[in-house]
Amino acid sequence: MTRRTFFGQIFPAFLAITLLAVVGVTWHATSTLERFYHKRTREELAARADLAQARFMGALRSNDDRRVDMVCNQIASETPMRLTVVLPSGRVVGDSEEDPARMDNHADRPEIVEALREGRGSSVRFSDTLQRDMMYVTKAIRDNDKTLGVLRVSMSLAFIDQELGTIHRRVTLVALLATALVALSSVWVSRPISRSLARLKTGAERFARGELGIPLAVPDSLEIGALAESMNRMAAELDDRIQTTVRQRNELEAVLAGMVEGVLAVDGEENILNLNQAAARLLDVDAAQSRRKPLQEVVRNVEIHELVRRVMDSGEPGETETVFQGDRDAVIRVRVAPLRDAKKESAGVLAVMNDLTDLRHLEKVRRDFVANVSHELKTPITSIKGYVETLLDGASHNAEDLDRFLKIIHRQVDRLHAIVDDLLALSQIEEDDRKGQVLLGRGALLPVIEGAVGLCKAAALEKDTAIHVSCSPDIQADIDPHLLGQACVNLIDNAVKYGEPGSEIHVEVATDNGEIVIHVRDQGPGVAQEHLARVFERFYRVDKARSRELGGTGLGLAIVKHIAQAHGGRATVESELRKGSVFSIRLPLPPEQM
Ligand code: ADP
Repeated sequence: MTRRTFFGQIFPAFLAITLLAVVGVTWHATSTLERFYHKRTREELAARADLAQARFMGALRSNDDRRVDMVCNQIASETPMRLTVVLPSGRVVGDSEEDPARMDNHADRPEIVEALREGRGSSVRFSDTLQRDMMYVTKAIRDNDKTLGVLRVSMSLAFIDQELGTIHRRVTLVALLATALVALSSVWVSRPISRSLARLKTGAERFARGELGIPLAVPDSLEIGALAESMNRMAAELDDRIQTTVRQRNELEAVLAGMVEGVLAVDGEENILNLNQAAARLLDVDAAQSRRKPLQEVVRNVEIHELVRRVMDSGEPGETETVFQGDRDAVIRVRVAPLRDAKKESAGVLAVMNDLTDLRHLEKVRRDFVANVSHELKTPITSIKGYVETLLDGASHNAEDLDRFLKIIHRQVDRLHAIVDDLLALSQIEEDDRKGQVLLGRGALLPVIEGAVGLCKAAALEKDTAIHVSCSPDIQADIDPHLLGQACVNLIDNAVKYGEPGSEIHVEVATDNGEIVIHVRDQGPGVAQEHLARVFERFYRVDKARSRELGGTGLGLAIVKHIAQAHGGRATVESELRKGSVFSIRLPLPPEQM
């Protein structure tokens, strides 16, 4: 459908109405006028006929056709009319304009037939003789009851046509004028409305572009003014709602961004609607590039796909724990709940993901630790129990056995004591470190190293092992001397314990790449590559039997690691099988020594 301007709509209607009115009035006026002229002419002709008929009486009575014709001409010369006299037989005997002898028989002319029947008659028709519209009025000429003939008085209607023609011309002129007036008034009526509507249109387009702040000007027109006010109200409400929506969206995005949990929204077609940074991190995908993509394409985990589908089908929430294979196997708990739109219809699902890797790892560490501690404690306790029972069963009567068994029990108790001591030391360091209670103070390392070496001297002497110390007295660090001393004792003690008799141990302190490093180098059996990463774990031993035999608890290196960490540093190891090991404590270099 083609659209038209407001002017284009009202002008044709105005014009049609006006033209219809003008044509209607004209038609009515001209037909009334025509009827009026015809009536007057007819009456005038009838009056003439009445007056003239007597003058034909004598000539008709005597059948004097020539006289009849003469009287016709005589009367006609006095008036603008034509007179014709017709005998009852239809023969024309007199006519003021034609020769009666040459005229047709007039018996069939309707006005003649009417006059012969009723005494009077009239008709309007085209005259073949005169070739124009004529009005005929007839009157029977009677002598007593005998009809002598019919007198017909006629007149051309040309003057009426002229009169009506003039009227028609004027009416046409008026119609043209009216058309022009209608066009002008249409413009006059439509222009202010069109202008107001155009302004509303521009304003509405502005609203559509989102510029809702500037209201529309309200025109004077009641209806258009009300429309403008409604549009302004609508724009204000829309603005308000948009602001609210934007604010809510920002709040939501801030909440999502700040969440530790990964949040992933999926629509009914299993396309990703949204995911926060945490989810992107957990799933190892790019958040911005994942939106609007199919879940299957982005998340490579069958368990999540199945859970999402199950929740979508059932409308019931569900959860699963799944492992993401990667650089580190991440354990992720996924809770999925159905999403519903405003009409409470299913609109997809929302998945919330928690990284349980650390938690599960800690749980495993704790389980392993409990199992290890129990195992470590069980061995000496079983041994003690066995010997105590043997003594109770009578072995105590034998002084030699009693002495031997008590020494064994004593050794096992020492072992238990050492394990419990190490466990307590470890938990104390961990606890202090966690609470920030390890107090570090600036101090020289040399006395700490010398103290530790001193404590290991006896054992070293026993194995004929020489300990060489290389440490500048100037080297200082932020330390807890007691804890650091204990760590050094553990390392030197291991070096003595595992080293071959007669070998050498070098304790060197140096600065290296922004760190102070305490190296304890031995010429012992070394540690195979596959064990290196684990020797700092609690109760981890490369050779269990040997460690036990040497009185090890399996906790020495774990204590070293935690002490190094409590100093903001770390413990490392380098080793080559059968050549020896270098265990190192690396401490941060105080800033002024850098
Ligand atoms: P343990 O009480 O058994 O010595 P540690 O935690 O001190 O426990 O050491 C863990 C394991 O690391 C030991 O059982 C041993 O196998 C290995 N180890 C430690 N120090 C040395 C070393 N200097 N040379 C060879 N192996 C070592």
